Amino acid sequence: MEGEIRMSEFKGVWVFSENHELALELLSKGRELADKMQTQLTALLLGSNVQNLAQTLVQHGADKVVVVDKPQLKQYQAEPYLTALTTLAKQHSPDIILFGSTRFGKELAARLATRLETACVPDCTKLSLDNQGNLMAERIVYGGNAAATIRFHMKPQIATIPARTFEKPVPIWDRTGQIEFAEMAFEELKTEIVEIKQLEASQVKIEEARMVICGGRGVEKKEDFKMLDELAQLLGGQVGNTRPLAEDRKWFSEWVGLSGHKIKPTLYIGCGVSGVIQHVAGIRDSQIIVAINKDAEAPLCEVADYVIVGNLYDVIPALIEALKKELKTSSS
Ligand SMILES: Cc1cc2nc3c(=O)[nH]c(=O)nc-3n(C[C@H](O)[C@H](O)[C@H](O)COP(=O)(O)OP(=O)(O)OC[C@H]3O[C@@H](n4cnc5c(N)ncnc54)[C@H](O)[C@@H]3O)c2cc1C
Repeated sequence: MEGEIRMSEFKGVWVFSENHELALELLSKGRELADKMQTQLTALLLGSNVQNLAQTLVQHGADKVVVVDKPQLKQYQAEPYLTALTTLAKQHSPDIILFGSTRFGKELAARLATRLETACVPDCTKLSLDNQGNLMAERIVYGGNAAATIRFHMKPQIATIPARTFEKPVPIWDRTGQIEFAEMAFEELKTEIVEIKQLEASQVKIEEARMVICGGRGVEKKEDFKMLDELAQLLGGQVGNTRPLAEDRKWFSEWVGLSGHKIKPTLYIGCGVSGVIQHVAGIRDSQIIVAINKDAEAPLCEVADYVIVGNLYDVIPALIEALKKELKTSSS
């Protein structure tokens, strides 16, 4: 058929995230896949006034950086980004495109897959290659009770990867690579972003937080979250919550867990959180899990590294006081 691309004509591994830190993390897995496939690793750098980041991408493992630096890409709007991604993908036919699993990244990945008539696997926790060099992606399914391994049969193979799934590569400061500026025509936008309101700091990118203090139904009043906020601030972390506090009590609009934000901080402290499977599926990759619960039999206590059995209204103020003392001593 005229214009048909054969599987053998696809080449290269591409990574893209509008979140620069996440893009660097994708480069570590991208590098591994590209080396195994003996192909090139390309980072896409799309945005407005972003070209100064190109060298960092090379230092973190990209062989090539394709830069589309245009005013049309100043705001995260799917239409112009899709134009850029579709144009580039059609020109170069990469084997694999890895996106960061941000809201924007997931939207772009799915829509790009539709445009390229290929498949997209979201929120992959593991990636590998089978004997034929096809991408194999693992993702958590069935409420966190199983992991599905999915093999791609079409190219490009598009997958999205949550933050902190892969470690950022160690940069090589004198590493060299090719930086290419791509030109393309953008259509007039069909929609316009009229206003952007900044979210409260505690609600921003909980996936990237190193410390997460999570409140559950054991917290009786919304005002009591001030206590959790104070603990989070002392630890330099962020506050999260379980789904019933959002869905039933309407205190928040988002939550942590399988159907919400999946996190993998260095330290997770669950305060009055029972730790049923749907919640634990979203926190199980945390390095250290601490449960503060008055019920020693709560499921979270089974998966926790440390359990404080007690009333959170006694335990959290005591922790805050102890931390303040510790911080005062270490600063004097
Ligand atoms: C399809 C589906 C998807 C879901 N997805 C998610 C998800 O992504 N995230 C999520 O969180 N939930 C999710 N849920 C809901 C989930 O099943 C649980 O209902 C929820 O996680 C329980 O929240 P919780 O731990 O805050 O409340 P509870 O289960 O009621 O637990 C409260 C805990 O607090 C303890 N406690 C009470 N008072 C105190 C106190 N003063 N001091 C110390 N401890 C105290 C209790 O001992 C108890 O263990 C989902 C459910 C479904 C059906």
